[in-house]
Parts: sequence; C-alpha cells; structure tokens
Amino acid sequence: MLVQRGWQVLSHLLSHYSKVVPNSPQYICRLASSWSGWRRRSYWRYLRRSVLGVPTPPYPRVTQTGDPVLRCHAAPVPPDQISHPDTVKVINRMVRVLRSGGCVGLSAPQLGVPLRILMLELPEKMSQAVPPDVLAAREMTPFPLKVFINPEMRVLDNRTLSFPEGCRSIHGFSAVVPRYYAVEISGLTPDGKRVTWLAKGWAARIVQHEMDHLDGVLYIDKMDPRTFTNINWTEVND
Ligand SMILES: [Zn+2]
Repeated sequence: MLVQRGWQVLSHLLSHYSKVVPNSPQYICRLASSWSGWRRRSYWRYLRRSVLGVPTPPYPRVTQTGDPVLRCHAAPVPPDQISHPDTVKVINRMVRVLRSGGCVGLSAPQLGVPLRILMLELPEKMSQAVPPDVLAAREMTPFPLKVFINPEMRVLDNRTLSFPEGCRSIHGFSAVVPRYYAVEISGLTPDGKRVTWLAKGWAARIVQHEMDHLDGVLYIDKMDPRTFTNINWTEVND
C-alpha cells in the first residue's frame, strides 16, 4: 500500500515534468535514467558544470553504452575537411584519450563524434605487462599509432579466434568474442594519404572492434553471452 501510495505521489510529481504518458515504457525509461542521473552528479560536478557549461564533443573521456552516438552509423569525413581544425581537434583529442586511458584502440563515436575515424596503438611497454604465454597465444605484437579516416576493412583469413576483450565504452566488463584471424584495413591518414595495413592476431581483433564502433556495433552484440564478466567481481566479494 505504502509502495503504491509512494508511486502515485511520485507519478503525480513527475507528470508535471513529462509529457510522456505515465506508466508507458517511455515514461519508465525516462524515470530510470533521471534517477541514475540525479544520483551520479556530485556537488563538484555541479560546480564544474556551472563554470564550464555542458560538455560538448569531442569529450575528454570515453562515453558509455547508453549514449545513442554509440549506436549510430558514423558518417564519412568529407576529403576536403580532413585538415579542417575541427577534424584535427577530434584526432588530437582521440590520441590523448587513447593514451591516457591505456587503450589499444579508439573510435571517434566513443568521444561523441559520429565520424568514421579510428586509431590503434599497441605500445611496447603495454605488451611487456602481459604474461608471455598470453602474449604468444593471442599473437599480441606491438605496433605504433595508426590513424585511419574513412577506413574500409577486408577479411583476409576467415578463421576465427575467440578471446576475452573489453571496451572503454562498457567500462568494467569483458567477454569472449570471436574475431577473424587476419584483415586488411585501408583509409586516409590525417595528412590525406591513402594507406593499407595488414593486421593479424590481436591487431586484427582491434581493427574489427573499432570498425564495428563506426557502424554502431558493440562487442556485446557478438560476444558469447555466458562469458560476459564484471572484471572486478572478485574484489566485490573480498
Ligand atoms: Zn570499444
């Protein structure tokens, strides 16, 4: 009864702020997202928002699943816009976020920009932190930063390898995902040159993961669902 009464009061209050029909699925969704929004914003965030205003893309951090931009089909960058300061700003921001977040790949939609830009990098230092047997099994070979604008991918070897992978846009989780063994990616560099790169093993996995982002696809769409894991579950139980 109390719950029902509480619900009626809440429903009444919120109906003042919403044109969505109460008890409809849209209403429940809005309610749930509003609640989570209210809980997340700290006083510090309120102050920062007051001073700096609403954040705009390219965000300085990776946006999370739920943001519609991650489900969009990203648009190609017009060739005459590749050297435009806005495009340069997006790429520079992507490099910063890629490196500061310890990522091996990043796409522009993950910073809120629905454009077909992706980058990959597997630094030597990062690969040294991986146990040698894992390194060998996953064929993780270091490679320098590679940026592709308007990339296209071709599968060279359609054998699939299944390994756990994660995504900064689904922070804190991982799952086993099958990926093709070898692919070819081609596209434009930031200075407008056309390049092609043959990637196999772990590099091919990163390419496929980032290419999926450009089409609004996340690894959870392709994973083995029974392997979906909160990577901190043991700490929660500790
Ligand atoms: Zn991702």
